Amino acid sequence: MFELVKAREVNLHKIVGDGDARALEQVTHVGSDGVRYATEAEIDDPQPIGTRPEILACVENSQIVRRELKETGAYIHCFPISVDRRVLGVLEVSCDRPLSEDDLGTAEGFLGLYRNYLSLLDYSERDTLTGMLNRKTFDESLSKILAGMAAMQAAENDPSAVRRRRQQEDGNHWLAVVDVDHFKRINDHFGHLYGDEVLILLARIMRESFRHQDKLFRFGGEEFVVTLRAMSEDEVRTALERFRTAVENYVFPQVGQVTVSAGYTHISASDTIPEIVGRADEALYVAKENGRNQIASYEAALRAGKVAVRDKPDNDIELF
Ligand code: GH3
Ligand code: MG
Ligand code: MG
Repeated sequence: MFELVKAREVNLHKIVGDGDARALEQVTHVGSDGVRYATEAEIDDPQPIGTRPEILACVENSQIVRRELKETGAYIHCFPISVDRRVLGVLEVSCDRPLSEDDLGTAEGFLGLYRNYLSLLDYSERDTLTGMLNRKTFDESLSKILAGMAAMQAAENDPSAVRRRRQQEDGNHWLAVVDVDHFKRINDHFGHLYGDEVLILLARIMRESFRHQDKLFRFGGEEFVVTLRAMSEDEVRTALERFRTAVENYVFPQVGQVTVSAGYTHISASDTIPEIVGRADEALYVAKENGRNQIASYEAALRAGKVAVRDKPDNDIELF
């Protein structure tokens, strides 16, 4: 497209986050300086959408927005990329002149192709009820985290201090399993339709409670998984508590109050996926046993002797 419409530059932005917290993550840039893909640092630090009024207008109205930038003499064209009426991204084409009708048609054609591709990706990655990432994506995503950690460890002796510093700045990976308390009662008293509505609203509260870098999955039924990066256990607990209180204080239509419990654990490079999920599940069990509507850490439960050490092959101690 850059070549076809003789653009100054073409940028592809992904919209991340919700509501006022929406931000722009620049996925790809094509210009006279070449093609550039987003670096991890840029992905971790997206630009608030408010800094780009033309992109904001494009997202909010889901229509093409044109703007002339007097300072640079550039004509900016923003094309929304939407799937199911949700604007997932914006294609920004900057030229020396406004795009002609023909060029706009060409751009629309490209966008159609791209939209189909995105929607296919989106469908296979997301749960249809809540729009959250699904189980299949969870396995891929966690494998990637573990591979990244293994690579970091291998580079430990590498003199390139930059990589190590990055790891220290970003902190560790954690995983939490969230489960709705007494969800069966909600279904029994109000019916499945209300149960489903609770899940949709919970997903929304979850997206508002965590940072956009944290990944949210619907694990099945009324169980969710969050993977997050944090410097300390305290930081993880604070994030989970923020979510737990937000749910506790939300008045669900008809249903009223709903609460959630969660268990979390630290992810180590030597872990396997079942080990991580197993530990978080054990912590969740502790939270449920302890009265629900609370967060429990596997490591803290271990220190307090509430759970036994796991996964030693010759260890036949009964858990709990
Ligand atoms: P607790 O977790 O607090 O121990 O109690 P619970 O009642 O939530 O526990 P349990 O896991 O036994 O029950 C979960 C229920 O969630 C079982 C099932 O009827 C319901 N459920 C699972 N998936 C869905 C769904 O997609 N929609 C609806 N409406 N209900 C679901
Ligand atoms: Mg459950
Ligand atoms: Mg439950």
